[in-house]
Amino acid sequence: MSIKDNLHHIEKELPPMVRLVAVSKTKPVEAIEEAYAAGQRVFGENKAQEMALKYEQLPRDIEWHFIGHLQTNKVKYIAPFVSLIHSVDSLKVLKEINKQAGKNKRVIDCLLQFHIAEEATKFGLNMEEAEEIIGVKDDFANVKLVGVMGMATFTPDKAQVRREFKQLHSYFEILKKKFFVDDELFREVSMGMSGDYSIAVEEGSTLVRIGTLIFGKRG
Ligand SMILES: *Cc1c(COP(=O)(O)O)cnc(C)c1O
Repeated sequence: MSIKDNLHHIEKELPPMVRLVAVSKTKPVEAIEEAYAAGQRVFGENKAQEMALKYEQLPRDIEWHFIGHLQTNKVKYIAPFVSLIHSVDSLKVLKEINKQAGKNKRVIDCLLQFHIAEEATKFGLNMEEAEEIIGVKDDFANVKLVGVMGMATFTPDKAQVRREFKQLHSYFEILKKKFFVDDELFREVSMGMSGDYSIAVEEGSTLVRIGTLIFGKRG
C-alpha cells in the first residue's frame, strides 16, 4: 500500500469532526511530499530542529504540529511557524512558548499534555498541575490553550487503553466546565495513535496522531 492509499483508508474510518495529524517524525521530506500530494496538510513532529528543517523545505500551507516533549531551549526553533503544540507539560515550557511567540508576534495554540498511561516514562501533567497552569494563563497573551492531549499505555489490553482515554476525556470535560465554558476554542482532545486510534475516536478524540499506519515502520 502506498502512502496515499494508507491516508485514504484512515480518512474513511474517521468521523468528519476528527482531524488526522500525519506523524512524519524520522521520515524524509519525500515521504511528506507524497502525503501532501494526496491532500494531507497536517503533519506532526517530535524534534524541534527536525521540524524546522522540514518546514524550510516544504510548502507553506502545511500545518505543523509539535507532539513530543519540548525542551525550553528548543522552543525558539519552532515558534515562527508551529500551528499547535500538543505537549505542554510544565509552566516553564508554557512561559517560554509565550515569550518566543511574542518575539514572532504570534499567538501559539497549545494543548495540556496529561499523564494517563501506567508507564512512568511518559511525560504529562496531573489535574492539580494542569489547574495551576490554567490559573495563570491570562499572564500569557501569546499562547492560547485549546485542549488536552495524552498517550495511552502501550499494551494489547484494549480495556485499559479505553479507560485511559475515558480518563483524558473526563479531564477535558472538567476543565471545560470549570474554566472554558464560554470559550469555543477550547475543544481539542488529542488522543489515538496507529495502534489505538479507533478506541480513541470512540472515546471522543478530535485529533488522532498517526505515523506507522501512514508511513510504515520507523527505522
Ligand atoms: C510517534 C508518535 C505518534 C505516532 O505513533 P504511531 O504509533 O507511529 O502512529 C503519536 N503521538 C506521539 C506523541 C508520538 O511520539
